[in-house]
Amino acid sequence: MKIDSTLEERFEELGDNHISTSEDTPLRKDAFDLSDEEKILKIKDNVSQIMETLGLDLTDDSLKGTPNRVAKMFVNEIFSGLHPKRQPKSSTFENKYKYGEMLVEKNITLYSTCEHHFLPIVGKAHVAYISNGTVVGLSKMNRIVDYFAKRPQVQERLNIQIVRELQKVLNTQDVACVIDAKHLCVNSRGIRDIESSTVTAEYGGKFKEEATRREFLNFIKLDTKF
Ligand SMILES: [Zn+2]
Repeated sequence: MKIDSTLEERFEELGDNHISTSEDTPLRKDAFDLSDEEKILKIKDNVSQIMETLGLDLTDDSLKGTPNRVAKMFVNEIFSGLHPKRQPKSSTFENKYKYGEMLVEKNITLYSTCEHHFLPIVGKAHVAYISNGTVVGLSKMNRIVDYFAKRPQVQERLNIQIVRELQKVLNTQDVACVIDAKHLCVNSRGIRDIESSTVTAEYGGKFKEEATRREFLNFIKLDTKF
């Protein structure tokens, strides 16, 4: 009981002032009119402009390649999960033996980016579901976490997107996800609190029941290190 009430208190803190307004990533209709290559060229120019405005010498050998490097990193890596074409394929299989059993995948490493500051969010996701006979490969859960993490994000939204996707793939509401993460915008700037981390949780179906939730939280114990 003690553990649960402490956890519940932390969940209440939900991201401080990093509040999201919608469950879906706010994208414009024309978000994918440009190809990845066209986006990289455009962002390269944009990054050059920022660097020039800051007074940096772009002819310097060390800085010359930065705009292109940042542009490629935005499109192909840290924001690659914006594009639906990169959504992990939902291959599931039937396993009658796993029926009704809770499966927990804990300590999934998570790298995301705060959409308010464009600084890293680094943490762990803990995912659980109760199978209705359909199961997914364990790496699938890591891939789903990674796909939604690779967007400009708000932790609560990321949490909800992971749960919603797994509910769809597994065809059950009985999915839960807890994320414990450090936001570098809090740790390295602003109030510079290097110890604090943010815990969010999303519980679907049976995980809304106290006993099931407690079983899951006991499994993960939030002994995460990152
Ligand atoms: Zn931030």
